[in-house]
Amino acid sequence: MNTVADMMLEMKKEFSIEMLDEDACREWFLKKIHAGGVHCPECSKEIASKRKLDTFWGMRRVNCPFCGRSFSAVTGTPLNGIGIEFRALYLLLFMVSHGVSVNRIADQLGISTGAAYLWANKAKCVDRARHEPPLGP
Ligand SMILES: [Zn+2]
Repeated sequence: MNTVADMMLEMKKEFSIEMLDEDACREWFLKKIHAGGVHCPECSKEIASKRKLDTFWGMRRVNCPFCGRSFSAVTGTPLNGIGIEFRALYLLLFMVSHGVSVNRIADQLGISTGAAYLWANKAKCVDRARHEPPLGP
């Protein structure tokens, strides 16, 4: 029988992003970036139609009933052009926050080092802005 330590070693060797649920991670991000409700990125009016909201949360494009602009759940947000799976971004941000190197993250998640650097830098810029004292006079 494997000990917990054995399982940890096997986990390090066999780690797979497949263990995380893509839909759950996507929902987590989208609920964070649209915490105040769904609004058109063009005219800022709230989208209330259940049919349009179902389409929106499913990452398909919707048309604003007020101005006609077509947009998705990431249009005009920090996640625009995400380019990697939501579960990969979820784990990437978790690992960046725990000091894991970008090369190691790219290797573990099976994504390009370019994509890993891009998102790690976005996260670090925000992190620095929140923790650094304002510039002096
Ligand atoms: Zn609109």
